[in-house]
Amino acid sequence: MDDIRTILARHGFSFKKKFGQNFLTDANLLGAIVRDAGVDGGTVLEIGAGAGALTRALSGAAARVLAYEIDSSLRPVLAETLSGCENVEVVFGDFLRADLAALEGELGEYRVVANLPYYVTTPVLMRFLEEAERCAGLTVMVQEEVALRFTAQPGTPDYGAVTAAIALKGEARITRRVPRTMFTPRPNVDSAIVRIDFERGRLPVVSEAAYRAVVRCAFAGRRKTLENNLMNAFRLPRERAREVLSEAGIADMVRGETLSPAGFARLADVLTARHVLT
Ligand code: SAM
Repeated sequence: MDDIRTILARHGFSFKKKFGQNFLTDANLLGAIVRDAGVDGGTVLEIGAGAGALTRALSGAAARVLAYEIDSSLRPVLAETLSGCENVEVVFGDFLRADLAALEGELGEYRVVANLPYYVTTPVLMRFLEEAERCAGLTVMVQEEVALRFTAQPGTPDYGAVTAAIALKGEARITRRVPRTMFTPRPNVDSAIVRIDFERGRLPVVSEAAYRAVVRCAFAGRRKTLENNLMNAFRLPRERAREVLSEAGIADMVRGETLSPAGFARLADVLTARHVLT
């Protein structure tokens, strides 16, 4: 097969910035991503197939690959780059509009692999964190600073609502850094690959919605104490906010950004038990 750049040029393809089209071509890196994602048999849902270089690499290691691509002008390119990959199916459409429940019914258990534009990665990740039932985990290429946010420790500047949302469902780790020089065209940031493994019942909470509400409240005013944030978010008198914190085993002067995900879970359960949250 010709080089991806040659194929794209032959089809008169022009890169679209609005879709974050920075493609990978290096065979060693593509193989490393497939290994990092732990693809070994099984079903893969790839989001953002691009010119199909990663899709083709995934096809060699997976039993089945279902790939989404928003840009239908890539159809002839993908027909060429994926020719002979019998276990790959490409759906042209916006993944953010896909019916995830229906997709899961069809896929069974699967892993997600995605090299998406940075502004799409977080909404896509949140969909899997909040809605997915049969997803074993995600391996995503993200801007390096986003990778630090996904994997941050409590009390550090990178720790935030997304970190806590991930921690409710699984464990995230950076598997490798990817310099900007690996992409065509070259973006102006370096990237990293983050692997998130979902673990059923990892942080058991009575209500996931309550956990998310607590996390939102804790990071709403990063510089404020958790007590003040609880008072503002849930209209609690100071005395009641103190009682709730004490019942959850949390000191009153603590700031939300220093609380561990397990702390958010305890607090959510206390607020649920006291009918502040449902
Ligand atoms: N996977 C390829 C690779 O690694 O070379 C392409 C990566 S490129 C960074 C991201 C791809 O995602 C682009 O081809 C873009 O058109 C596609 N894309 C962007 N937003 C999308 C969405 N909402 N749904 C599906 N595909 C999307």
